[in-house]
Amino acid sequence: MAAYATSLMEDVKAKNPAEPEFHQAVQEVAESLELVLDKRPEYRSARILERIIEPERVILFRVPWVSDQGEVKVNRGFRVEMNSAIGPYKGGLRFHPSVTLGMLKFLAFEQVFKNALTTLPMGGGKGGSDFDPKGKSDGEVMRFCQSFMTELFRHIGPNTDVPAGDIGVGGREIGFLFGQYKRLANEFTGVLTGKGLNWGGSLIRPEATGYGAVYFAAEMLGTRGETLEGKTCLVSGSGNVAQFTVEKLLDLGAKPVTLSDSNGYIYDEAGIDRDKLGFVKELKNLRRGRIKEYADRYPSAVFTPLVMEPGRGTDPIWQHKADCAFPSATQNEINAEDAQNLLRGGVYVISEGANMPTEPAGVELFLDAGILYGPGKAANAGGVATSGLEMAQNSMRFSWSREEVDERLHGIMKNIHARCVVVAEEFGTPGNYVNGANIAGFLKVADAMLDQGIV
Ligand code: NDP
Repeated sequence: MAAYATSLMEDVKAKNPAEPEFHQAVQEVAESLELVLDKRPEYRSARILERIIEPERVILFRVPWVSDQGEVKVNRGFRVEMNSAIGPYKGGLRFHPSVTLGMLKFLAFEQVFKNALTTLPMGGGKGGSDFDPKGKSDGEVMRFCQSFMTELFRHIGPNTDVPAGDIGVGGREIGFLFGQYKRLANEFTGVLTGKGLNWGGSLIRPEATGYGAVYFAAEMLGTRGETLEGKTCLVSGSGNVAQFTVEKLLDLGAKPVTLSDSNGYIYDEAGIDRDKLGFVKELKNLRRGRIKEYADRYPSAVFTPLVMEPGRGTDPIWQHKADCAFPSATQNEINAEDAQNLLRGGVYVISEGANMPTEPAGVELFLDAGILYGPGKAANAGGVATSGLEMAQNSMRFSWSREEVDERLHGIMKNIHARCVVVAEEFGTPGNYVNGANIAGFLKVADAMLDQGIV
């Protein structure tokens, strides 16, 4: 690691102990920025990166609620308002038992760069709770969401901070959160994105992250004169991002063969077709069941249980022969051994639907191998970009058609790809989308911060 990143990381670790995901995210960006700070010393003297890594504000609050059995439960709620240099804070809410302040700081930090890449006026934020919606009744989820919003509502607003969904927060949760916001604030505004279609949501928002990750992969392949047609694809996760990744892969003639959840994964040699995807959507979004049921239903598929804990060994989902991989579950789901297995299995296109799904040693292997590696910051920016489009439609009190939003999303993904390519080349690392995304996102935010003085 170069001198600047080394000394910055010493400070980051001393000041933010026990936040390993945050350290990991900052280190990757700091390493990319070595290339910029030598050329543009004004960023260094204005301490731009040092300011970006310090959240503008962190809100931490108690979320008490009552279970169906009448027991009092207490969870912890967070909102990290990271950076508002180019627009209101924007980023999802995650409900998962693993949520900590450090995890949300990593996600909020990444969001700042990602949002800048979309070219839309959105700052970066992230929030959530250690609440686990799994196994809870609709009534319990509603009471939790209402309690969560009873504190959060005073900190957010359509021009201040606009949350959205993330892991564990889908259409159901956004509905309950919005209902409570509206009741408390006594106004109907676009304060959340991912809303239902008949109350201010945008067409294509549910699809956007998955579709965007596939559009990004198609752009990367385009640099080699190839398309997704006929490509075998590994997809992890089976939630929002994974489902619509599979859908767009099918649209473009590819063959997705895997899906997973936290209990295991299915490998379907015959390919996951539209009917099977319909089954998965019903299983996951309505019945809230486990992916194992896919293999019970379709004999061409094999279910393998798996453990995705830190310190785990290799994950068998990444051992299958394929052309492309779309990690779409969670952070650090690909370690160095998995990365080696992916390369060994012939994978040469990776488009990250999840945030930071690859550990740093894995990223290094992908970059060294010279494959088409699209980091989450760029590849999954379609979700927040379409949230930006939802905000625009809410401001105009108007809705665009499905085709119009999809066209805009596609255009944004093409632009993000092109910008990453140009910037990576400009800074002497052609084909390195990690540097391209980190530097392009940084430049936009850094210049805004310089203009706005020491705030
Ligand atoms: P969902 O909650 O809809 O789905 C998450 C999927 O990943 C589920 O299948 C879940 O399995 C699995 N998963 C989650 N955590 C773990 C874990 N610790 N170990 C194993 N499996 C896990 O979330 P999304 O699809 O919205 O999000 C997936 C990823 O995409 C996240 O990294 C998120 O930050 C990122 N992302 C999402 C965006 C969006 O628009 N939704 C935008 C940009 C990025 P199980 O049900 O068993 O927990």
